[in-house]
Parts: sequence; C-alpha cells; structure tokens
Amino acid sequence: MLFRFALDFASFLTGLSRDDIYSLVDSVDSTFREGDGNVKDKRAATVLQILRETFAMSKWTKATRSPFETLIVTIISQNTADRNTARAFENLSKRFEIKPEVLANAETSQIEDALKTAGLYRNKAKTINRVSRIILEKFHGSMQSILALPLEEARKTLVQMPGVGPKTADVVLLFSKGQPTIPVDTHVNRVSKRLGFAPANGDYDAVRASLQSLYDPRDYLAVHVLLITHGRCYCKARRPLCEQCPVNIYCPSRGLWNGNA
Ligand code: SF4
Repeated sequence: MLFRFALDFASFLTGLSRDDIYSLVDSVDSTFREGDGNVKDKRAATVLQILRETFAMSKWTKATRSPFETLIVTIISQNTADRNTARAFENLSKRFEIKPEVLANAETSQIEDALKTAGLYRNKAKTINRVSRIILEKFHGSMQSILALPLEEARKTLVQMPGVGPKTADVVLLFSKGQPTIPVDTHVNRVSKRLGFAPANGDYDAVRASLQSLYDPRDYLAVHVLLITHGRCYCKARRPLCEQCPVNIYCPSRGLWNGNA
C-alpha cells in the first residue's frame, strides 16, 4: 500500500506514468550492471525533480555575498559545522570589513580571535590573511579578473592559492559567477555514490565529472544544493533514513545499507 502510494506520489511529482516508474524501478539494478546511460539519466532527472519538490531552495539561491566573501566563508567552513561557520563569519564581519585590503593588513591574531568558533581557526586565519594578500597584490584587490577567466583556468588560479582546494574553488565559481561546475562536499560525495550517480571509489574529480555528465549545466546549482540537503535530512552518513527517503524507489542502495557503504 505504501509502495503504491509512493508510486502515485512519484508519478504526481515527476509527470511520468506509473508504468514508466515501474519500468524505471525494475531497471535500476540492471542499469548498473549493464551501464545503460539513458535509463540512468532519466532516473537522475527523476531524482532531481523529486528533491526539488521535497526541499525549498530559496535561502540557498540568493546571491547575497560578494565573491571575496564567498571565498572567505568557504575557507572558514572547511571541516566545520554550518552553525559554527556562520558564527565565525559573523564575528569576523563585526571586526573587519570583508575586503582583501582590510584582511591582508589585519593582524593574524585578531583574525584568529574572530574565528574561534570554527575548527582549525589558527590555520584558517593564516590562510585568510595570505589569500587576501595574494588577491590584493596579484589581482589588484578584486576577484573579477579571476572570475572572468574560462572555468578551468579560473579553477586552476584559485587552487594555486594557499588553503583553497577544488571544492572551495568550485563553490566560489558556481555561487559567485554561475559557472557550470558542481562542488563535491562530503554530502554530495556520499549521496551521489549511494544513488549510483558516481563511481563508488571515485575521487573528487571523478564524482564531479559523473554528476556533470548526468545533468544539464543549468541544474548544477540545484544538484549541489539538493544533494547536500538530502544528505542532511535523509541520506545521513551513519544511518540513512531509507524507509522515509523520498527517492528510495530509485536508489540501488535502498535496503542494502549495511553501514559500510
Ligand atoms: S534510499 Fe537510503 S541510501 Fe538511497 S538515497 Fe535514500 S536514504 Fe540514501
């Protein structure tokens, strides 16, 4: 009965007929055995559509921060919970204008003080100071010349900065410039692998490339945001809530979870 309701609900959300959904469900496992990209794409599209209907995106899609602020907050967020990141960024903003010329000339110890709620705050304070200096000295205090570069060149330029890895670079490029890239954080990595959208042992670049091959670039921001949200709400790291998961009928890991995936 519940399964039937789930099918009706999925049909309502996706616009696919129940027969289509039945055939998608039946084909999930064979898709992975046979590597049928077409069915996988349809399934990926259906999963995205259901996640769009399940979660609101408004607070994620407002571009309220400057590119430099986005870079700084993403550096602060590394290995740090959202709430602590927000507090640390707020503290930093109260003490300093978040501008390269200000943070480049600030005492590292003062930046450290402001970041104390974030993990690894000493390292992050040094990174923020050094990155600010680089942007001030090499890029005339603005990130616009970096953002104007073609995507791969911009990524390369950003990851050459201390403390800036591919995820941080992709977040800046996606959120500040709408560049077609999908940042892969811990949730995106886990959820996309469980859903079979990325190779189980894939590294950052493999997961990013797999997801990008499944979706239209216009959907990259939604894919990033919704996989994170889904990972937080249902597809949790230790105990995924497969029974309640809104996309469980499309997931090859449903019911197979053994705590080691
Ligand atoms: S069914 Fe379980 S493993 Fe699959 S996406 Fe949903 S919560 Fe994650």
